Amino acid sequence: MDMIGQSEKLAKVCYDIRGPVLEVAKQLEEEGNRILKLNIGNPAPFGFEAPDEIIQDVIRNLSNAQGYSDSKGLFSARKAIMQECQKIGIDGVDIDDIYLGNGVSELIVMSMQALLNNNDEVLVPAPDYPLWTAAVSLAGGNPVHYICDEQSDWYPDIDDIEKKITSRTRALVLINPNNPTGAVYSPELLMELIRVARKHQLILFADEIYSKILYDDAVHTPIASLCDDLFIVTFNGLSKSYRLAGFRSGWMILSGARERAAGYIEGLEILSNMRLCANVPAQYAVQTALGGYQSINELIIPGGRLRDQRDTAYNALTQIPGVSCVKPKGAIYMFPRLDPSRYNIVDDQQFILELLEREKILLVQGSAFNIQDTHHLRIVFLPTVDVLQQAVTKFEKFLAKWSRL
Ligand code: PLP
Repeated sequence: MDMIGQSEKLAKVCYDIRGPVLEVAKQLEEEGNRILKLNIGNPAPFGFEAPDEIIQDVIRNLSNAQGYSDSKGLFSARKAIMQECQKIGIDGVDIDDIYLGNGVSELIVMSMQALLNNNDEVLVPAPDYPLWTAAVSLAGGNPVHYICDEQSDWYPDIDDIEKKITSRTRALVLINPNNPTGAVYSPELLMELIRVARKHQLILFADEIYSKILYDDAVHTPIASLCDDLFIVTFNGLSKSYRLAGFRSGWMILSGARERAAGYIEGLEILSNMRLCANVPAQYAVQTALGGYQSINELIIPGGRLRDQRDTAYNALTQIPGVSCVKPKGAIYMFPRLDPSRYNIVDDQQFILELLEREKILLVQGSAFNIQDTHHLRIVFLPTVDVLQQAVTKFEKFLAKWSRL
């Protein structure tokens, strides 16, 4: 019998956030267990609803959304994104520099497919949001991971980046605010990244999907607002700041030295045309979302639900002996460290699997984010404070079994 295998293109592609542990979770659910899913940044199931005016506008426009749109997206949506660029200081962006996609995910894959030849290199952060690594590999490129340093609030290590640049390096990816660490980069750090990119003529890919989810005194600076002589592609969307992950609506913005990138932009046009267009009903949400009431702000101020949940998860986790964590300044995740001198975890996927089986809590192991050690994990702080508190209590009990003491 001829077996049907996967393509060779997938040989190096790895996306463990939705990997084997999730299959076990599904199985457990089918057997009637309730699983607390702290594994995916999906706000809606935790009671985070989008502003009603967005939903109403989409409903009102449904009958206008039956046909394909322009392959780059509806004029009204792109115009609203263009105006948002003006507001946040990304200069000179025209309607034609904006592409709507079925979530940022589709555009990440497209942006790499259009760019890379076999063995071209792209600098990707470690820990990363693993879709970036997978998209580079799928496009035939080699992801080269640069270190984000936990000792320095998970900031990228500029020396490490410089050391890893070769004649094949095409681009540098930054995720700010960061998934999984919650780091928010200062303008000074962004200027350092720009300096390195300028020296080596790298393209900057800036994933800024959490740009409006900020805590304490954090301020988000779009890297494209600091530089107009490099070619920069900025990604954002409705999934997180507007809690509309299921709508699958995101965009990418080309800015800076577009004249240098004419060939690449032609490639993007081909790929954009090939997928016809992004989901049209969701494109009708964009103008209202960006121009309407920014309800995310209520959730992140002191006393706001997201901010309270971050504090609860942080306080509960860090009082466990041997657990430390850089307090997130943005996004919806924490990336705590389990002290290796106290806890003996050889295989972190096995650790997460056992946590799932015993306590019915689903987290993601640190190694899924392309780091080399086995003593980190990612937790999503979307559940209510009570649920988070209970989850951490169960986690503490479970973790104690892995103690070396
Ligand atoms: N980029 C980052 C850093 C993310 O965390 C996510 C989703 O978790 C995405 C992109 C994908 O977002 P979308 O829902 O727009 O595809």
